Formats: sequence, structure tokens, C-alpha cells
Amino acid sequence: MKNDFSIIIIGAGVVGLSIARSLALKGQSNILIIEKEDHFGKGISSRNSEVIHSGIYYPPNSLKADLCTQGRDLLYDYCDSNQIWYSRCGKLVIAHQGQEEELAKLYLNAQKNHVPELEMIHKENIQLLEPSINAETALFIGCTGIIDAHALMTSLKRESDNADHNTLYKTKVTGAKTIESGYEISIENAMGEIEIATSDWVVNASGLESDHLARFIAQGERPTFPELQYSKGDYFKLSSKWRNHFTHLIYPLPDKRHDSLGIHLSFDQLGNTKLGPSAHWQRNRDKDYQVDSTHLDYFFDEGFTYIPELKKEDLSPDFSGIRPKIKTNDHSFSDFYISHEDVKGFPGWINLIGIDSPGLTSSLAIGEKVAQIVHSAL
Ligand SMILES: Cc1cc2nc3c(=O)[nH]c(=O)nc-3n(C[C@H](O)[C@H](O)[C@H](O)COP(=O)(O)OP(=O)(O)OC[C@H]3O[C@@H](n4cnc5c(N)ncnc54)[C@H](O)[C@@H]3O)c2cc1C
Repeated sequence: MKNDFSIIIIGAGVVGLSIARSLALKGQSNILIIEKEDHFGKGISSRNSEVIHSGIYYPPNSLKADLCTQGRDLLYDYCDSNQIWYSRCGKLVIAHQGQEEELAKLYLNAQKNHVPELEMIHKENIQLLEPSINAETALFIGCTGIIDAHALMTSLKRESDNADHNTLYKTKVTGAKTIESGYEISIENAMGEIEIATSDWVVNASGLESDHLARFIAQGERPTFPELQYSKGDYFKLSSKWRNHFTHLIYPLPDKRHDSLGIHLSFDQLGNTKLGPSAHWQRNRDKDYQVDSTHLDYFFDEGFTYIPELKKEDLSPDFSGIRPKIKTNDHSFSDFYISHEDVKGFPGWINLIGIDSPGLTSSLAIGEKVAQIVHSAL
């Protein structure tokens, strides 16, 4: 018997929507997108820094390095073609005395990842670019930018709608099992009723839930899919006196202990400026988005190391996001997990797990990769 859909995509975040758009470009129309919220883009995709990353940080040949550098260029082109706001503002990764060697290592890594528009600059030039920033040396990266992530998702969703894809909101995937020619997905609709949908392919792009949903198909067997641990990031905003004060994003050296980029300074299209995100490993899976105001001193101390005129009263709690990090023994670097699980006995099931930063930047490249996996198997 024919399945209801060719492809079911679970999750309407930037990744699920980008996959839908890439599949539309390959002529796939019999697609159902299932989203538990009442609108697309209400998960991780709406709680981030909206930075188009350059790709300097990630180990060469990792998925993060490859998909970030490809995705960055695709994103700038896509924004130009679809009138999506962005600013290619560039960024400075700053170093103080004694940190030069670490900055040089980052520069080398960036070169290995073929990131363009790189330059090491020193105090006088840092002051010329950003008079309020105190640092001895900085790596200037010209191809970093910021984007209106919501406008991006709106555009991707439009392309998916134009291809006649179906979307169910307020609908939660609660189970899945293999059937002869694909998968049977259990969904709980807005009325609390359980319904069934069948499809040839399932793409699990459910962000913070992706490891749990991957386990639905295991049915007691125990294939090894990665597990997530949440890392929460708070942001503190700077008062209006700092609006439009900076023209480049400012990053300290990465905080390796927390696998994060450190408390950095970014701004949005209105020039509103914020510090963050911090990185706090969570013991549980609660989605508590309350910003912990007791972190104020920590944010001030971190910001003050490179903004000497910063005052504590300039800072106030803003918003928070939660990173879906793949568990490692020592909280070290974890890559994206993007896998067609045919080798584990689940042909037609694609898992995307641990799509934390730079997932927004990589989204279009991830979409192309997944669409290619599906297309080459058809
Ligand atoms: C603090 C922070 C800062 C970041 N900054 C940047 C940045 O500056 N640049 C960058 O490139 N990346 C950044 N990222 C990473 C980026 O935001 C994510 O990689 C990206 O948004 C992930 O998108 P997604 O579609 O996988 O997840 P989501 O946006 O979370 O989408 C998954 C969707 O699945 C839905 N869902 C979950 N379970 C179910 C279910 N059972 N049934 C139906 N639907 C379900 C959810 O409701 C959600 O809408 C940041 C992340 C964080 C947390």
C-alpha cells in the first residue's frame, strides 16, 4: 500500500525548513512538516545570536567546518536573492597580553578551513576600528555577519508552501515504528487525539528533542544514536547609550571548558547591543528560559575585560537559549550528527542530532546535504 507521504519532516526550525526548501528544489512535493508549536521557528532558531559565522573555530574536515563555510556563502547569496536583511559587519576576536599564541592557533585553524578575509591587527588598528575596545591583538574576520533569522525562516517556509508541502502545527510526534515500506508516525493533534501518518522517509530535525525521537525507531533494540546534554546560554543587553556604538562583533578567545565561544558582543539590525551567551551545562531536560539575574557580575567581569568603559548598571537580563550538545565524556568539541540510518537498519530515516551553533549559518548547506541523501537513494 502506498504511504500517505513521501517524506515527513519533524520540526519546523531553520533546519527542518531549509531541508523542506532543498527537497522542493529537487521536485519533492508530497511532504508533511510536523511542528509541535503553533508556528515555525519557535525553538532554538529564535533564541540565538543571529550571527553568520565564518567557520574559523571548528576542526578542519569536521561537519561543522564544512557546512558552516559552505552555508555562510549560500546564506549571503540567498539573502541577496530574497531581500532578507543582513549585515556583513565583520568581527574581531581579541587577545590580551599572554594570549597571542592562542590567537595565532585560531588564525592557523581559520586558514586551514579556507576562511577568507582574515587579518591579524594590533592595538592601534583595533582602536581605529573600535575605539571603545581594549585589546593588544585581534584577528579581524571580514566575512562574519548578522542576519534576521526570522525573515530567513519566513522565506524558507514560503518556498516550502509554494511547493505544496503540508504543515501541521500544534502537533507532536509521540512515536514511530518501521513498517514494510517506510515508517508509521504517531502524532498527537491540538485536541489531544492520536493520529497516524505513514511515509517512505522521515527526517528527524526536532532540535532539542532529536535524540529522544531517534530512539522511537529502536523499539527496545538499542542502536547507538548520540545523546544530548543541554547547555543553557543567557544574554544580557546593554543600555540604550550603547546602541549603534560598535560596528564589528567582538569575541574573546573561545571558552574551551564550556565548548563555547565566550561572552561576546553582538548587535541586531536596530543596533541594540548584547553580551552573551554564557554556557551552563544543565543536569535535566527542562526548557527553562528564565535568565539568571545573579549572573550579572560574571557578565560584567567578562565584558569589562575588553570594554573598559562598561558599567554594571549598563547591563540587564535579556533572553536565553538552549544548545543541544552531543554528550562527550569531557565536554569537549562535539560535531553535528547527520546520518541516514540505513547502516543501523533503518533505511529512509535521517537523524539530525546536536545541531547547535553554527546551525543557523549552516542551515542551507544542511538542507542541501539531506536533500542529496534522499535524492540519491530514489
Ligand atoms: C544560545 C545560542 C546561540 C546561537 N547562536 C548562533 C549563531 O549566532 N549562529 C549560528 O549559526 N547558530 C547559532 N546557534 C545555533 C542555531 O540557533 C541552531 O543550530 C539552529 O537554530 C537549530 O535549528 P533546528 O531547526 O535544528 O532546531 P529548532 O529551531 O529547535 O527546531 C526544531 C523544531 O522541532 C520541534 N519539535 C521538537 N520535538 C517535536 C515533536 N516531538 N513533534 C513535533 N515537533 C517537534 C520544535 O518545536 C522546534 O520548532 C545558537 C544556538 C544557541 C542555543
